[in-house]
Formats: sequence, structure tokens, C-alpha cells
Amino acid sequence: MSGAIQDLTDLLARLPGVGKRTAQRLVLHLLRSPAAYARQLGAAIGAIQDVVCPCSLCRNLTETDPCPICTDPRRDETRICVVATVPDLWAIEESGVFRGQYHVLHGLLAPLNGIGPDDLHIELLRERVAGGNVSEVIVATRPSVEGEATALLISQTLSECDVRITRIASGIPHGGELEYADRMTLNRALTDRRDM
Ligand SMILES: [Zn+2]
Repeated sequence: MSGAIQDLTDLLARLPGVGKRTAQRLVLHLLRSPAAYARQLGAAIGAIQDVVCPCSLCRNLTETDPCPICTDPRRDETRICVVATVPDLWAIEESGVFRGQYHVLHGLLAPLNGIGPDDLHIELLRERVAGGNVSEVIVATRPSVEGEATALLISQTLSECDVRITRIASGIPHGGELEYADRMTLNRALTDRRDM
């Protein structure tokens, strides 16, 4: 393989879920595609880290800070739904079952993998709850060991705050990813939430 083909193959093969064979197929596909598409793709990849940043209030990924959800006056600012990842937030948003605000942890507590309380933006959540008019925090982490440990940590961290803390019902299959749950499952999980 020539230098340019080899270089792009190596770069693509570093993406999650893309092995060497897939990377080679993608390079051949790009060579057969219109040049304008390849250029557009390259520009979009190059710009993504410059235009997207974490929201300083909720850590959602956004192009404006604070993010459109935090600044939307039609949303219920008394309720905060805590999710592990941005795809979890997207799944709940697409389902349309929740009209409050969010807090994105960007992970779950996993001490063995080096993810401790300080990595999860929980202090930022405590500041939001302590400083605002939040009446309920809904912990929507998945029902795995890490998800439950994270939920417990959140409830301990917020124990001094005057706020109701609830946990989504385990309608989500055990260990299942929130982001793959359908609308009805998400709706039931949120509606049947219980106090922690
Ligand atoms: Zn936000």
C-alpha cells in the first residue's frame, strides 16, 4: 500500500469498532466516492472538536454554552435527570418522555478502572442543587453494579440538600444500556421511579 492509503487506513483503524479490514474498505469506498464528499467529511472531522464543548452547567455536549436544554425556558428547571452518557441523554430526548433538565456524568463509578467520584462531575451537580430551585433529582443510571454504586454516591452527596432523590424503575433490562431502550420502556422507567 502507498503512503496516503496506509496513513488513512491506520487512522481509521484507531476508531472504536473499526478493525484493519473495515478501515481498508472505508478507504476504498472514499476513493470511489465524489471528491466533494471526502473533502466535506474531512472538514467535518477536523472541526468537530473546535465547535463542540461541554455545557458548563450540565456537561451536555453543545455548540453554545450553556446548552439549548439548559437555556430553554419551556423546560421544567425543578427536575434534573442524571445520566451516565450523552447518548443516554439523546435517547431520553428522542423519546420525549422528560421535559426537565439534565446532568451528564460522562461515566459511572468504577474504581477498578480508575473512575472515582471526582471524575463524574457530581460536585457540579451538588452545586446546581444547592444553588437553585431544584426539587427532584432523578438518577437514570443503568441497573448495573456501577450504575447502582453511582446512584448511591449521588444520593449520599446530595443528602444535605433539601431535594427529593429518585431512581428510575428497573424496566431497563439488567445491565442494559439506556441508549438502546425504546420509548415505552423509558417512559415506564421514568414514571415508575422510586424514592432513594
Ligand atoms: Zn446544559
